[in-house]
Amino acid sequence: MPGQKDHANLFDDARSRLEEVFEAIHVHGDARERLKQPNLAMQVSVPVRMDDGSLRVFPGWRVQYNNTLGPAKGGIRFHPDVSQEEVTTLSFWMAVKCAVVDLPYGGGKGGVKVDPKRLSKLELERLSRGYVRAIADIMGPDRDIPAPDVNTNPMVMGWMADEFDHLARGKVPAAITGKPPALGGSLGRVAATGRGALHVLDLWASREGRKPEETTLAIQGFGNAAYHFARLAHERGYRIVAVSDSQGAIYSRDGLAPDPIMEQKTQHQRLHEMVYCDDSVCIAENVEKLERDELLSLEVDILVLAALENQVHEHNVDQVQAGAVLEIANGPVTSYADEQLEARRVPVLPDVLANTGGVIVSYYEWVQNRSGERWAEEEVNARLAERLEYQSRLVLERAEREEISYRKAAYRQGIERIADAIQLRGNCQ
Ligand code: GLU
Repeated sequence: MPGQKDHANLFDDARSRLEEVFEAIHVHGDARERLKQPNLAMQVSVPVRMDDGSLRVFPGWRVQYNNTLGPAKGGIRFHPDVSQEEVTTLSFWMAVKCAVVDLPYGGGKGGVKVDPKRLSKLELERLSRGYVRAIADIMGPDRDIPAPDVNTNPMVMGWMADEFDHLARGKVPAAITGKPPALGGSLGRVAATGRGALHVLDLWASREGRKPEETTLAIQGFGNAAYHFARLAHERGYRIVAVSDSQGAIYSRDGLAPDPIMEQKTQHQRLHEMVYCDDSVCIAENVEKLERDELLSLEVDILVLAALENQVHEHNVDQVQAGAVLEIANGPVTSYADEQLEARRVPVLPDVLANTGGVIVSYYEWVQNRSGERWAEEEVNARLAERLEYQSRLVLERAEREEISYRKAAYRQGIERIADAIQLRGNCQ
């Protein structure tokens, strides 16, 4: 089964979406050539002294896909399945998504092939610092600005920012985003990806005349983005009937409460091992356990994909029964599966629009760091809402006007902006 481990052809699959866009918007040959390959891919190996005194060396990468619109921007992933192919693909998606929401950034991504759950806190800190030492030469506020991604968080960004400051012999807070607020991180950054996805869903739902309380959601994944999305969607009135983690899924027709799930997750780790309802906690009255991938075939209004790439593919797309799909993860639907959903007229709110909340607030963090300002959380959230509503509306209206999928409309919007900038710069550097 092609799943998260299988990155063979991931990049080819991702960039295959470019051809249709190039034709549709008449992209000049120079820009076509430039956009087919990353600008720079750096492979590193990160030595880490383990707590028991032994030395382990972890492979890592940083890929800068494009820097025409601005410095490369994108997160760093710690995961046992990370590969250069995956990081390159993720950097490509970053380039597209930054352009879709009109940020002055190119796209980048980093990753280390490691299972961070098997490291002690000190080992994780040494790894984070070692990774920054390895890629420091290509980083900087005007070159490449890392941020959190799968299995990295503000604590990891804090160590990385501290390491970069040591190397730079000064304070360079704008070199990394997603830092803890005490180290110059933006308020609102932690919840931003989930909050942004909810704005996109809300905008689409209101155009469709669909009310939150009449809309059921099944959410694949319960990491940072998924949790904050679930929390805010629940507050807004959407009914979350299922969630999954990497081991299993839970379902309740009555609706699940995200906060007790999160509280339980910190104690029990796995959804299947949680206490669902007793005197002290109640996730829902009637919880049913499901196999992890059974969640994908539930008959819900919206299937929310918030785990990893390649989750809906040629072998399971036929089982998807949801009325629409919201992509919070990067690349959760393969291009083949996407075509099938399009043919079946299942709308997909695509990653390059729906998960941009995180990078948008990273941009606000960078702006605050560069100007020495600190914005209130309400201001950050208001700016996020305003930008996303404006850019999403452009995408949704374009899709209607040109009678294309939301993904095609988003790609056209993003690639048009990058391709224009490539042409205007002229030298194709
Ligand atoms: N890792 C996030 C993403 O995939 C955020 C990147 C950033 O903030 O730079 O969009």
